[in-house]
Amino acid sequence: MTDQIPKGSDEADLRTRMLLVCRQMNASGINQGTSGNLSARIGPKSLLITPSGLPYESLTEDGLALLEFDGQWIGPSRPSSEWRIHRDILAARSEVGAVLHAHSTHCTALACLGLGIPAFHYMVAVAGGQDIRCAPYATFGTQSLSDHALAALDGRKACLLANHGLLALGATPEKALALAIEVETLAQMYILARGLGEPTILDAAEMERVLALFRTYGTPDFPDAELRQKAPSSRVIHR
Ligand SMILES: [Zn+2]
Repeated sequence: MTDQIPKGSDEADLRTRMLLVCRQMNASGINQGTSGNLSARIGPKSLLITPSGLPYESLTEDGLALLEFDGQWIGPSRPSSEWRIHRDILAARSEVGAVLHAHSTHCTALACLGLGIPAFHYMVAVAGGQDIRCAPYATFGTQSLSDHALAALDGRKACLLANHGLLALGATPEKALALAIEVETLAQMYILARGLGEPTILDAAEMERVLALFRTYGTPDFPDAELRQKAPSSRVIHR
């Protein structure tokens, strides 16, 4: 860690967490070589982002570039060539704290056919809507690609990029990674299902029901009238 980044500071902590997520991108198999990239919001108009073309095995906390929204950056290596996508999403979506991009195999296979992921499985709602769209193709690193991505992400936390890969957003780098893994798994399931026939697509009303449930999933507000939490003191010890 450099002198300018005090140990234990929010920035030092975020750099450490981002590095861990980068390594998990490799370990989970969603990352291919140096193609993926990760960013996280660090200030109102700035972000930390993985550098261009450096394998995550040799990346350190100091190797992450600090990038301002106007394109100025500080760091030992230049930011990922897809910095515009990261900048534009963080600028447009205040609820997003981290952006993950990867060329994960199954998402990319679908995207090479220009296919998104329809509601063949209820978990498609994890990306925030009725489907996971595929943004039209544009050359990597261009403003056009970023514009297409932002449009495909409208009302969503993930999208595919035609002939390219996957984007996943989250409040934190860890949440963006969890979503990326979920979407890659859905892409794999969808490809397998399509290999067997034409999957049944859940209708819009059912997906609305699932989306409503997902808003409270994992919280005490999740509706299930038959499931009632008892006080620990009411526990009977069975011997
Ligand atoms: Zn890419």
